[in-house]
Amino acid sequence: MDHTKINLLVRLQHLDNQIENIISLQRGLPEEINALEEDLAFTGKQIESRLKIAEERLKLRQRLNETINECRGKIRNFKEKQTLARNNKEYDALSKQIEYEEKEISHSEIQLQDIAHAEQRTLETQQTGQQLIEENRYDEMTEDMMPDDLLQQQLEDLSKQVKQKKEELDSIVVETADEVNALNKKIDEQREIIKKESKRLLDKYDHLRSGVIQNAVVKLNRNACSGCNTRVPTNRHTMIVQGGFYLCESCGRIVVHERLFDEAAD
Ligand SMILES: [Zn+2]
Repeated sequence: MDHTKINLLVRLQHLDNQIENIISLQRGLPEEINALEEDLAFTGKQIESRLKIAEERLKLRQRLNETINECRGKIRNFKEKQTLARNNKEYDALSKQIEYEEKEISHSEIQLQDIAHAEQRTLETQQTGQQLIEENRYDEMTEDMMPDDLLQQQLEDLSKQVKQKKEELDSIVVETADEVNALNKKIDEQREIIKKESKRLLDKYDHLRSGVIQNAVVKLNRNACSGCNTRVPTNRHTMIVQGGFYLCESCGRIVVHERLFDEAAD
């Protein structure tokens, strides 16, 4: 049995493990950043839609107040004209116009009241939210219950967290970039060598690693495959100790003596 081939493969696993270790430093960060960014976008949208509603209410209120002022002006005008009316017919016509403007005013006032009520409801809903927060009853909260100031605070906190996590990730990536590049180069070279020496072994390795398994080659640990902890038959131990390999019957991993990993690390 040619043991040098398996040594080459262990060396490849050693290099792949090193890359894996470096990547594990940032493990979780990209996913964490994604989740935070989603929360941030959602909070931003909530604030935006609240601002839009407030702006629409403000505009409508302004328009209604303008209408009321215009109507009042017209009424004053009509009343002046009434004092100059030459006959009852003219006077009554002006009265009708005044009546119309008064109806316009009361209609606008009702709408202003509606706005005030809606604003009051918004406020009360947020007060309910504030109360629930103080009582730690977060699961009873709805989106619109979140008080404006806390929503704003949430936006700022999330922005800060995203920035922090991104900086953290960037620094890891920058710090490890040279190392990762050097390792990738070594891995490419190692793969080329193995391809020439034993393509079958490399295919087996790649096939194992095509799924969730990263450690296709593992050490024999306490007479078991350290990948899945299944016992390795005693009659295979000698071969492993001699520097050969064993394909785990349970997980399919390539089991070797730990000495080979020590050698590969040199
Ligand atoms: Zn196994």
